[in-house]
Amino acid sequence: MNSDSPAARAKLGKVLVSAEQIAARMPALAREIVDWMGDGDDDLVLVPVMTGAFIFAADLVRHMPVRMRITLATVSSYPGASTASQGVRPLGDLPANLEGRRVLVIDDILDSGRTLRFLRERFESQKPARFATAVLLRKTIPEAMNTTCEFVGFDIPDEFVVGCGLDYDGCFRNLPDVRVLHPEGSAS
Ligand code: 5GP
Ligand code: MG
Repeated sequence: MNSDSPAARAKLGKVLVSAEQIAARMPALAREIVDWMGDGDDDLVLVPVMTGAFIFAADLVRHMPVRMRITLATVSSYPGASTASQGVRPLGDLPANLEGRRVLVIDDILDSGRTLRFLRERFESQKPARFATAVLLRKTIPEAMNTTCEFVGFDIPDEFVVGCGLDYDGCFRNLPDVRVLHPEGSAS
């Protein structure tokens, strides 16, 4: 990494959700989702939103012992070293052929709600039999709390966080805990 990059100048702050708390939450959350999805048929499609949801999705699906298909969707909302939402842009094709299927979109965090609202609209227009969204984290701000999201791992305060899939300037996704990030290394 460039030693003067935004990620190198940033400073990690306190742990908001620990790896242990995340691991302990997965079985119950997975059970809730399986109860909603039902079992047995050939029509379950999980759509993790890349890149941030890759760790949460991997943790979750290993607690969901049902037949499912997993199809990735890539959208960009915080390009580069920005910490402010820039609007949603799909990168590449979004999953198609969802008509009549039970579809669960999985994302890392619900913040402004733009990503989930955008994907809900795009996917519901394909007439899935059921549609729901799941996030690991939801910020306790009005925009997030007023956005429909059926399954939430943890509610957190309005801080910019990294870890467990979430990045800043492309870094920190591999941190096992969810931590506050201070972009210019100020307070901790
Ligand atoms: P929304 O569209 O709800 O504003 O935000 C959803 C997307 O923005 C997330 O999937 C994530 O990529 C990014 N995002 C929102 N809040 C944060 C945050 O606190 N930290 C990081 N690293 N990304 C965030
Ligand atoms: Mg994202």
